[in-house]
Amino acid sequence: MSKARIALATGNADKVHELSRLLSDYEVTAAPEGFDPEETGTTLFQNALIKAEALRPDVDPDTIVVADDSGLCVHALGGRPGVFSSRYAGPDATYSDNCLRLMEELEGVEMRGAAFVAVLVGLLPGGGSVVGCGVCAGNITPAMRGEGGFGYDPVFQPLGDDRTMAQLTTDEKAAISHRGRAARRLASALVSV
Ligand code: IMP
Repeated sequence: MSKARIALATGNADKVHELSRLLSDYEVTAAPEGFDPEETGTTLFQNALIKAEALRPDVDPDTIVVADDSGLCVHALGGRPGVFSSRYAGPDATYSDNCLRLMEELEGVEMRGAAFVAVLVGLLPGGGSVVGCGVCAGNITPAMRGEGGFGYDPVFQPLGDDRTMAQLTTDEKAAISHRGRAARRLASALVSV
């Protein structure tokens, strides 16, 4: 039997890479080049829904559309950058700009607790939706370490590990990450609808 299809409503190649592995029971396709709807929401859920709904008209009606909105919430910064994680150091910020700004803001700060949060929204063929959320708690390191992953991974040390997320293998990250947890919850919601 052929696999059910998922179209990912994201233009972020790093998320496509992780989500394709996490949702490998499905035939997963990425959004067309340049897909970048304006994220005007104030919550991860709102932004995930905006992205999913933006792609819905462009994909086959039998395909499930899945969008990811995610971010890093830092305790000492009152939860920032949160929903603004990709634009923390400015509208055209690179991953490394964002990590550097975070390390600067936390210079000398002892309380370095943080959490990655991901919200995945799935729009079902014929209407209806499912949601999967995931959280991964950790601490912000004083320096960048590791080459794997993306975004803030080089400055995020998950609780219970002495490595940063960027020093984990893809499978190790998937086992504990916010996106891994959210994807497993989304997948179990999808099989029960
Ligand atoms: P979004 O595209 O608006 O959801 O932005 C998500 C941003 O949060 C990314 O650009 C990264 O900066 C950060 N982020 C989300 N997930 C991860 C992750 O798994 N590792 C590191 N940074 C992440």
